[in-house]
Amino acid sequence: MFDFSEDQINRYSRHILLQDVGVEGQLKIAQGKVLIIGAGGLGAPVALYLAAAGVGTIGIVDGDVVDLSNLQRQVIHFTPDVNRPKVDSAKEKINLINPDVNVITYKEFLTSENALDIIKDYDFVVDGTDNFPVKFLINDACVMAGKPFSHGGILRFEGQTMTYVPGSACYRCLFHMPPPPNAVPTCSQAGVLGAIAGMLGTIQAAETLKYLTGVGELLTNRLLTFNAKTMDFRKIKTHRREDCPICGKNPTITTLVDYEQAVCDLKDRH
Ligand SMILES: [Zn+2]
Repeated sequence: MFDFSEDQINRYSRHILLQDVGVEGQLKIAQGKVLIIGAGGLGAPVALYLAAAGVGTIGIVDGDVVDLSNLQRQVIHFTPDVNRPKVDSAKEKINLINPDVNVITYKEFLTSENALDIIKDYDFVVDGTDNFPVKFLINDACVMAGKPFSHGGILRFEGQTMTYVPGSACYRCLFHMPPPPNAVPTCSQAGVLGAIAGMLGTIQAAETLKYLTGVGELLTNRLLTFNAKTMDFRKIKTHRREDCPICGKNPTITTLVDYEQAVCDLKDRH
């Protein structure tokens, strides 16, 4: 049995005070294992909040180094971290916030080769990437492995997110196939307001904590979108499609695929 020290009771007191969470919920958080894919705009706030919340194990996948242009929104990385591997920079900040967290780093990009092997040890996966090929890969790997995950996407002034648990609508139920390379711009091409990453990433962190504690209703079978210019938030109802190529009745996708990525996108993947 896991027992909190006096310091931990103090550290997590604002969670423990919450009727829906309490010591029991905090124990579930402490026993939780969460994989964050991408230590960039979305992965940064997700990692910071999950670390502060006391998630027991946080895995981070990212093969990139910190670039000066990342610092405008990737708030887990600081100016002296430029050129350092993102996973090293993120691990250091997580443990400065909370030494209780066991951080496991993967200094590589998620591919069809390594995806299933990396996600298998985790309870919940957070998609913090900004390109379609990896988003579809994360969806397919999580559906195949029966892992719940939070999808997140941001661009310019807008964000969208949904949560998948086995049995609910998956990302492919909504978006059948990745768009052709270069058909849709990414943040590295079209820009993004820095705070949008924080707005969406904190929603993903909240979904993760809700999943671990069992509190509330997850964003399943709904796609939440917002536009920060008007601050309109919308929830679009979705449903699992029987003809979905991955989670449907007769799946046609039975192995993981690496889709082609826009060439101009390769330099800044998160
Ligand atoms: Zn589906």
